[in-house]
Amino acid sequence: MEFLRPATWDEALAAKAEHPTALPISGGTDVMVEMNFDVHRPSAILDLNRITELTEWSSDGSTVRLGAAVPYARIIGELSGPLPGLALAAHTVGSPQIRNRGSVGGNLGAASPAGDSHPALLAAGRDVLVEAHSVRGVRLVPIDEFYLGVKRNSLAPDELIRAVRIPVADGPQQFSKIGTRNAMVIAVCAFGFALHPKDGTVGTGIGSAAPTPRRAVEAEEYLGGVLAERGLWESGELLGPEVVQRFGELVKGAASPIDDVRGTADYRRHALAVMARRTLTWCWNDYRKQIRSAA
Ligand SMILES: Cc1cc2nc3c(=O)[nH]c(=O)nc-3n(C[C@H](O)[C@H](O)[C@H](O)COP(=O)(O)OP(=O)(O)OC[C@H]3O[C@@H](n4cnc5c(N)ncnc54)[C@H](O)[C@@H]3O)c2cc1C
Repeated sequence: MEFLRPATWDEALAAKAEHPTALPISGGTDVMVEMNFDVHRPSAILDLNRITELTEWSSDGSTVRLGAAVPYARIIGELSGPLPGLALAAHTVGSPQIRNRGSVGGNLGAASPAGDSHPALLAAGRDVLVEAHSVRGVRLVPIDEFYLGVKRNSLAPDELIRAVRIPVADGPQQFSKIGTRNAMVIAVCAFGFALHPKDGTVGTGIGSAAPTPRRAVEAEEYLGGVLAERGLWESGELLGPEVVQRFGELVKGAASPIDDVRGTADYRRHALAVMARRTLTWCWNDYRKQIRSAA
């Protein structure tokens, strides 16, 4: 097995172009497990750890450009203000050791339907873009189009993820995850939710309850419609229980889960409806407080 260790991003792209089957390694928290279990015997490993810009993030005030290798621990410590949903999701990943090494770039590279960053990224809005770089140039892939199937993403063989562009939150965001215990656990199912008062929309993301992470589109449209038609963005009135209930049902209906060792399809659907109702209620309560204190 060849071990490629580029010192710069351009060298990494050249190496990936020359060795399209080389397996990139960032934090290694997925790659090393899969190699130990013989899931992968790649012809070459492409170690991205010398490329410091992958571990940097920047913000222009409206968008955070999150380097692919920024570890979860730093997302929690440095980005819980602009990216609250992703920071909450990062809190639930593995253990401190995994959060010190694991990254959103690696989560996207693995594209597991159970990856915890995906529901938060989907909920953060349709403007979330994955930067896929190659020697041919840069492709900005909308997050909705990134996931193609179970552990399959839309990266071409010569492409690497450089960063993810995520809009700075303009309203409350939440993330909820159910596991078979409280820590170090792969999601039985998960749900991300975000209010986007600036453009009057809401965002959702379902994890571990379909072949890919996905939005609950009908639920987003239903709730966005109710908030606009009833003037609730402006008034901050309480949502009626029928709205919360209907939202939960629509989220449940958007999933297509399976029975597996972690849970049954029926349990996952039920749990999604509960998480959807809870996260909506938490976010709406926070939103009401925000507009009351601004008044
Ligand atoms: C004990 C344990 C607990 C875990 N718990 C959780 C959990 O609770 N939630 C969760 O979501 N995950 C969990 N994971 C999985 C893993 O930690 C995450 O998926 C993490 O985000 C992977 O990031 P990484 O940087 O370590 O990726 P790596 O292992 O380095 O790579 C993962 C994949 O992404 C590819 N890749 C990496 N960087 C790039 C890049 N820049 N461009 C293109 N492809 C790239 C790799 O080739 C590989 O296919 C756990 C893993 C372990 C071992």
